[in-house]
Amino acid sequence: MKIICVGRNYLAHIKELNHQIPEEPVFFFKPDSALLQKNSPFYYPDFSNNVHYECELVVKINRLGKSIPEKYAKNYYSEVAIGLDMTCRDIQEKEIKNSLPWSISKAFDYSAPMSKFISLEEIGKDIQNLDFKLLKNGEEVQKTNTSDMIFSVDKLISYLSQYMTLKIGDMIFTGTPCGVGPIKIGDTLEAFLEEKSVLKCEIK
Ligand code: MG
Repeated sequence: MKIICVGRNYLAHIKELNHQIPEEPVFFFKPDSALLQKNSPFYYPDFSNNVHYECELVVKINRLGKSIPEKYAKNYYSEVAIGLDMTCRDIQEKEIKNSLPWSISKAFDYSAPMSKFISLEEIGKDIQNLDFKLLKNGEEVQKTNTSDMIFSVDKLISYLSQYMTLKIGDMIFTGTPCGVGPIKIGDTLEAFLEEKSVLKCEIK
């Protein structure tokens, strides 16, 4: 199983980090050891002083696929989740400055707290019309609708599958909206998909 993450897929977030608007999707990866499930606590890593949350819609691939045309991409997923792309912003800034990949800043152990997957059929809405939000200590810090993505889920799947085979169980983090920010020990993060609380994560 691979975890594929999209960077820079919401305009307002690109602006808040002073990044360039991409002409093509930007990807990076997290290993399977990054997964943190069942509302387990997140332990603040001792190698960073500036860990940020990034709340994202996650899509699970349910069919083997290669070179998938965009119009058939819908046949390759049926479930979504909310995930947190935990990022050591201080390390990432050094990586960017030195033109290095975002490996340590993004792929460290348990850097991907994740809700259970929920079927789109059960939600009853189009994947490009889903509301999600993140609360920190009860206060809303991120909120968006997936219609604000620069590259749609189907476009991402089509683009990615030109280069690598997508396998059953692969997960795609589809990018974060604006409002990313730091966490500290003692904080609680809670994510909502539509009106439903789907993920809670205590920072320890
Ligand atoms: Mg992200």
